[in-house]
Amino acid sequence: LVVLGIETSCDDTAAAIVRSNGEILSQVVSSQADLLARYGGVAPKMAEEAHSQVIDQVVQEAVDKAGLTERDLSAVAVTIGPGLSLCLRVGVQKARRVAGSFNLPIIGVHHMEAHALVARLIEKELRFPFLALLISGGHNLLVLAHDLGHYTQLGTTIDDAIGEAFDKTAKWLGLDMRKSGGPAVEKLAQEGDAESVRFSIPMKHHKDCNFSYAGLKTQVKLAIASRNIAAKVPLSCASSQDRSSRADIAASFQRVAVLHLEERCERAVEWALKIEPSIKHLVVSGGVASNQYVRARLDQVVKKYSLQLVCPPPNLCTDNGVMVAWTGIENFHVGRYDPPPPANDPEDFMYDLRPRWPLGEEYAEGRSEAR
Ligand code: ATP
Ligand code: FE
Repeated sequence: LVVLGIETSCDDTAAAIVRSNGEILSQVVSSQADLLARYGGVAPKMAEEAHSQVIDQVVQEAVDKAGLTERDLSAVAVTIGPGLSLCLRVGVQKARRVAGSFNLPIIGVHHMEAHALVARLIEKELRFPFLALLISGGHNLLVLAHDLGHYTQLGTTIDDAIGEAFDKTAKWLGLDMRKSGGPAVEKLAQEGDAESVRFSIPMKHHKDCNFSYAGLKTQVKLAIASRNIAAKVPLSCASSQDRSSRADIAASFQRVAVLHLEERCERAVEWALKIEPSIKHLVVSGGVASNQYVRARLDQVVKKYSLQLVCPPPNLCTDNGVMVAWTGIENFHVGRYDPPPPANDPEDFMYDLRPRWPLGEEYAEGRSEAR
């Protein structure tokens, strides 16, 4: 089985070709980070246009780099949600055009399930059930993966996701946003003193597995305002004192942001072991999982419970086509796919997009345990 995966749910246009034995034949990502840095956020219409401009080229490049033609493909997998519907549609239309022209079955993929399942491509020992922490710009999820397509949601964010807090911190600290804010904060944090700014840990008194990053964001904003940091001056031109204040804030923010993850993961492991005593792994994926500090700290957490941490390599943590192709393969194996669309599929055909699509059922017991 050779599957093309297409991803356009947010601000990256990505495509990849993966074989069912897990071999990655090609991987292409075209990022809109430049646009985002210029306009300070994702404007759906602008993002849609950017996807439309590059989608044909990205898919063509994936096919060429794999040394194949479309005729060698067995199926096309595409993200159908959650995400911005205007953006999702660009990917789905492309997938239907390719599938229609070459008579290929099509597999609709859940973006967050793909973030979790790509871990099974890199770690062959990873079997269901397992626990997953999915951390990105728009999501902050703790889920128990029972089986393909079958998840229990132990926790989610009540406001912002951790990636959003990283991005705003980078912006307010005047860091280079061309490659998204997270990596810039991680890098600067290495120079700082993580104990120097006293941020409080979110939701300390809530005995559940939910997250909150809006309050920490505000604390960061206030700390920056009270320290006379000239965020308009690029970091490379900042005085050494200014640079070290910025680094202290970056390090202190990162420490507390991750402490919140650690606390929630500890509780989630305890809940998860009650529901599925056989779990052996914690998967950490999504863009923020490419952060080395996050990985190191969560590794300490799982060791306490004799579990194993599985983190995909950074380029498979951030949005990519490989995870979509792989999740397509897993679904294909159990017969979950749609027949090829007609070759003359009208462009405006409304495919079943799912812009809001929760991953699994909420854990009902959790609400009572939390009290
Ligand atoms: P979604 O929320 O729909 O999964 P997304 O658009 O947030 O998708 P991802 O690529 O999964 O896309 O995650 C991007 C996020 O990950 C951004 O907020 C980015 O700042 C963050 N991120 C990337 N690398 C790092 C890092 N090294 N440290 C911290 N955060 C990072
Ligand atoms: Fe993502």
